[in-house]
Amino acid sequence: MSHPFQVLRFREGEPVAMKEAVIREVLGPVTVGGMPDRGLPEWWNLRTPDGGEAEVYGDASCLSFTRVSGGLVLDAMAELALRAGAVIMPLDCPVLLQREHDRRHLPDAEMRAHAIVVPPTDWTGRAIERVVRPLPEPRRPVLPRFAYHSRAGVVAPTDAPCVCCGQERGWVYTGPVYGAGAPDAGICPYCIAFGKAAERYGATFNDLIDGDVPEEVAREILERTPGIPAWQSPRWLTHCGDGAEFLGTIGAEGLAHFPDAVETLRREWAGRGRPPAQVEEYLGALDAAGMPTAYLFRCRVCGTHLAYSDFT
Ligand SMILES: [Zn+2]
Ligand SMILES: [Zn+2]
Repeated sequence: MSHPFQVLRFREGEPVAMKEAVIREVLGPVTVGGMPDRGLPEWWNLRTPDGGEAEVYGDASCLSFTRVSGGLVLDAMAELALRAGAVIMPLDCPVLLQREHDRRHLPDAEMRAHAIVVPPTDWTGRAIERVVRPLPEPRRPVLPRFAYHSRAGVVAPTDAPCVCCGQERGWVYTGPVYGAGAPDAGICPYCIAFGKAAERYGATFNDLIDGDVPEEVAREILERTPGIPAWQSPRWLTHCGDGAEFLGTIGAEGLAHFPDAVETLRREWAGRGRPPAQVEEYLGALDAAGMPTAYLFRCRVCGTHLAYSDFT
């Protein structure tokens, strides 16, 4: 398979060291020539009884595995992550988490949005293989990038052709569609990115921009950007004269990393005449996957995080 991996333990967005004793205990028996008496080598080779191999380098805060052959080598990597309380990061693939609780510790929103939870009982080399080489599904094409949307929560895999372009793109858009003649499901993300769905159906995917932006920005957000997966009428936040980038839904735990976004929520609710105690209670009840939830954005110009909540 020869896919590069990293094994790390994150707390509050930062890597923290794994126990060296655990690394020595798990990888020692499959290390070519054995481990030194103490500490870890700068780099070393693994060889497993099934003929599997890998090269390992790094230190207790991040171990990289390259030239990974698959088989028992992956099982050793899985056991290491399990016992060290670490996550497995295959290059260009979703991060594997042991618990939903670990998601909030990952360092960036894109990673948090796509990470997959693998329960401890399934935490084996096979599970890693399934993420790196999704089976039995075919490998899907790369998704289009959107300047104003991280794609979090609005794209799902499918084998059905797109209702707009008729192509089997491997992905379907699952967010809101506005427009009398527009199909409310089955459009591929490429038809949104390239403006085909907007042109063909007169459809938009967003309908309210909160603030003033240039005409071409407004058109890009309304016609060529996925919508916000919201319970109530969503709105697009703006900052520094530009549309902000939508990062995803976020709850109280995640918001702890974005004090600037919490400030926007606090201001908005206080502005509606809510007493401070009630405002803090709302903030504590926000849930990334439930109700009430908050919608997190980042200014594309100054980097400030912004949020609003649909709980009124
Ligand atoms: Zn399409
Ligand atoms: Zn800004």
